[in-house]
Formats: sequence, structure tokens, C-alpha cells
Amino acid sequence: MLGNLKIAYFTMEIGLRTGIPTYSGGLGVLAGDTIKSAADLGLPVVAVTLLSRKGYFTQELTSDGTQIEHPVQWNPSDLLEPLPHQVSVQIQGRKVKVGVWRYEVLSQTGGSVPVYFLDTDIEGNTDQDREITHHLYGGDSTYRLKQEIVLGIGGIRMLQELEIDIFKYHLNEGHSALLALELLNWLRRDITTVWDEKLVWDVEAVQERCIFTTHTPVEAGHDKFPYDLVTSILGEIVPLEIMKELGGTEHLNMTLLALNLSNYVNGVAKRHGEVSREMFHGYHIHSITNGVHSHTWTCEGFRELYDSYLPGWANEPELFVRIDTVPDEKIWEAHVASKNKMISRIREKTGVSLSPEVLTIGFARRATSYKRADLLFSDLQRLKRIGDGRLQIVYAGKAHPKDEPGKDLIRRIFTHARELADHVTVVYLPDYNMETACCMVAGVDLWLNTPLRPMEASGTSGMKAAHNGVPNFSVLDGWWVEGHIEGVTGWSIGPEPSGKDRDGRNGKVDEKDLYDKLEKVIMPLYYGNRPGWIRVMKNAIGKNAYYFNSHRMMRRYVTFAYISTHSTGEDAAGKY
Ligand SMILES: *Cc1c(COP(=O)(O)O)cnc(C)c1O
Repeated sequence: MLGNLKIAYFTMEIGLRTGIPTYSGGLGVLAGDTIKSAADLGLPVVAVTLLSRKGYFTQELTSDGTQIEHPVQWNPSDLLEPLPHQVSVQIQGRKVKVGVWRYEVLSQTGGSVPVYFLDTDIEGNTDQDREITHHLYGGDSTYRLKQEIVLGIGGIRMLQELEIDIFKYHLNEGHSALLALELLNWLRRDITTVWDEKLVWDVEAVQERCIFTTHTPVEAGHDKFPYDLVTSILGEIVPLEIMKELGGTEHLNMTLLALNLSNYVNGVAKRHGEVSREMFHGYHIHSITNGVHSHTWTCEGFRELYDSYLPGWANEPELFVRIDTVPDEKIWEAHVASKNKMISRIREKTGVSLSPEVLTIGFARRATSYKRADLLFSDLQRLKRIGDGRLQIVYAGKAHPKDEPGKDLIRRIFTHARELADHVTVVYLPDYNMETACCMVAGVDLWLNTPLRPMEASGTSGMKAAHNGVPNFSVLDGWWVEGHIEGVTGWSIGPEPSGKDRDGRNGKVDEKDLYDKLEKVIMPLYYGNRPGWIRVMKNAIGKNAYYFNSHRMMRRYVTFAYISTHSTGEDAAGKY
């Protein structure tokens, strides 16, 4: 039907594999999982991103938990193929050359999707311009705007240079929204037939081509650039007046620009869709709940188990519905093996010895305030009492180099770890990345998440845990609102989501519920009723991994966003 036409997926970061460190967290890992599923499903997709030659950073932690950042050393030519194609973009009135590297994501099903990494570190550019594609999320807003020019405008020009014909542009977050301005230029109406200057700009034609996925209700996640900066760095790619109409009058708001130039917009979980509709009145915002790539996020032991009992599971995760055909003891054996692997890994990296017999809680994600990594430590006396010798906790996560409260959070966890030392072992595994994530989500017994509602748009690490039979214990926000069945797939913390979440902080309620459930429900089940515990593990697989995978997610994008003839598909579905 599409002939040779492709869907172009634009993303600032992408997490495909260890060895290509061009991601910082959930957004990038999701992009990688999206592309892998597209390859598995044989979808006509190409991806565009930045090379990020110095990566995000590697994290070193001193003995008091102070984070030290080191640039990542990697050699793109080890894994990527340099292409001869070049385009240029105007930055501060200069012509900046943009080169490109290709990485082919190959699926075992025979499908493949190319990822194009844009690179300004090439001959002919000034030293300053060569740095534009060095640091992921580094520098100030001038640097960020330059990166977004390269990604959006450079990216769309590069696809043209590569002679790839595009049917739809999918903007993964607002970072690439400048591509829509370039499209606006390309699709200009013939000036001789138009009587009103403004009608030259065919906004509808651009909207027809663009899909926008917004990923966070956190204010800082939405880029805004003052117009004096925009005019000096970007210039008037379209007249300023038009830019202001589409991107906001005060500053160029990339989210607003993407909203105004896309005809399909979605949040990344049902709850996030609601929250986004409250944030951006007047826009029709759908939701497509995130998923993770099943094969990537299932550890070795469980892969083998699924291969023998549910052959074909990786490309058809719906087969998890038959998880009850796997004997309990096989599930437990596979879990114990993953746990032991994690324990030896932790011993190697930190010198801390965990016990394989003790209920182990995992918490790993970006260290940033709204994720409340220290909620578990709100009442140290109580934690000591209920957890004495019967609980241990594994942490991991990087703080953005400029996020001081996030860095303090890591130090606080180290302080608490010392205070709890004789009772509850707490260990912080440094340099959280896809590899450590995979090891942790499979190796712990329980996956904890305590975000401040409604800030967790989706959250995906809990879905990874579910793929390895690890139940979630989480605040009802993001995906867990949809995945949670109390005592069946895992447990909630605190109240049901509500429209007032933004006003109330709920700290005390969440804290009490967290301890109460640990003490009275979760620990008794783990230690006193192993078959009951394994039942919950199986439900995590059969009811959570079954649904929260990126194959299901990509099928939704195809039917609702990429090729739907009526853009309200999922809303109509909800009416039955
Ligand atoms: C999955 C993943 C994340 C995202 O986890 P959340 O639960 O969404 O916060 C972040 N970083 C890495 C390395 C991951 O693998």
C-alpha cells in the first residue's frame, strides 16, 4: 500500500545496545525498543537521531555518594557505517555541514530498520560547530537549540539527500519539532495563486504528515527558546510572525509547535493522556501506552524457559497468556539464577554481599526529585524494625549533571545506607545503563516505584521487571494504573489517581501505605507462602508482560497514528 514510502521516527536519543551510548534514560530506551519492534514486525520505518560522540556520561560515585561524571569513550566506526552523504543547515548565519552514519537494526524475523545518526564533527566545520553533536543533553539552551536544528532540519534534509521518501514523520518528544517548520517551507502553496500572504503556509498539509508523542508532564521536559535566541541562531526559517503563531508568542515552545503541526498527538499511558489534555487545552490528545521490547528485556534464564514452553513468544508476546503451562518450580529456578547473577555482579562492582535468601527490592531510574527515591527511607526506625535481616535494597540511577537536588538524593541514599547497615543492606550500583538495568529488573524480587503523581508519564522499567516474573510495588501513576490488579499482578502504594493529584502531595499517605503493605502483605507472602508468591510472578508475566510490550504498542501506532483513516480509532474502540 505504501510502496516505497517510509515512516520517519525522529528522536534526540536512542538506546539500542551497550556500545552505542546515545541515550540517557527512558525516552531513549523506548526509542530503541520502538525501532526493534518495527524491525521485528517488518514495518517500513527509518529512524533519525544524533550521534552524541561523547555519549551522556558514565557515573562514578565516591564513598559518600557524590556523583562524578566522565565523558563516554566510544568509537562510532566500531558499530556504525559512515555514509558519504552530507547536507547543511544555517546556524548563526553560518553554513554547518551535517554528515551521517548508519546502523541497521536487524531482526531475527528478517526485518530491518536503519537508524541514521547525524554528525557535525566533520571536516570543514569550525571547532565549535563540530561539538554540536557531542554531548547528549549537555550545554546551555543555545547548544540545545543548535542540536535541535541539526536533528529537525538537518534530519529531514538528510532523508531527502538519502532519497528516502517519507509518508509520515513521527516526532518522539518535541526536540525534533523544527522539522515541521522545514516541511512548512517545502509544502508552501504557489504564491501566484494565493491572494493572502498567510495562506501561503499550508499548515494542514504539514499536520497530515506529522505525529507527535509527548512524554512528560514535567515542565522542564518541554523546551522553550526565547525569540531573540531563535532569530540569532536559527534565523527566520519561516517568518517570525508565523513562527509565533505556531510556537507561542513569548518564546518558541517546541511542544506547542509540535502540537500545532501534528494531526495525531498522543501521551504514553491512559493517565498521561488525561494529564496532557489538562495541560494543553484545545488539543485532541490520544494515548498509546508504552511497552518494552520483550526479547531485549527478558534475561537469559527466562528466555530459555519461554523458548521451551511458549515458542514464538518474542515476536508474539500474547503467548504469555499461556504462562500457566510453565511449572512453578521452573519459574522459581529461573528467578533464583537471575538473582544469583545479580548478586555476584553487585559483589564485583561494589564489594557488597547480598543474601540470596532475603527479599530484595529494586529501585533504578533517573535520580530526580519527582521519582522520590528516598520515600522508602521516610521512617528509618520502622524500616529497621520490619526489615531487620529480612529486607535488602538495590539502587541505581544517574542524576543529570546540572540537577543538584537529584545529586543530593543519591548522597542521601548513601547516608541512609550507612544508618541502616546492621539491619537492612542497601547498595547503590553505579553507572545505571541498559546492561545493569537488565541485570537488576531480573535479579530482584520486587520492583519499587514511588513517583509523585501525576509526574510519571508511563515508566517502563516496571514492564521490564514483569517480563522476568518480578512483580511491581508502585504508586498508581503512569502505566501501573493500567497494569495493577491488587494482590494479583503486584501491589499499589497510596490512593487511586485523581484529578487533584497536582495539588496534593500525598507524602504521608504513600509512606504509611508503603510500610503497611510491606510488613503485612508482601513480606508474609514472600516468606510464608512461596506458591502464592509464584502465582503473582506468573501474573506479572501473563497479565503485564502480555500487554506492556512494544510489539503491541507499535501495532497501535500503525493502526491509530500511521495509517488510520479516522484519527480517533482508539476513542471509538473505547465506546464498545
Ligand atoms: C528502562 C530504563 C529507564 C526508564 O525507566 P523508568 O522506569 O521509565 O524510569 C531508564 N534508564 C535505563 C538505562 C533503562 O533501561
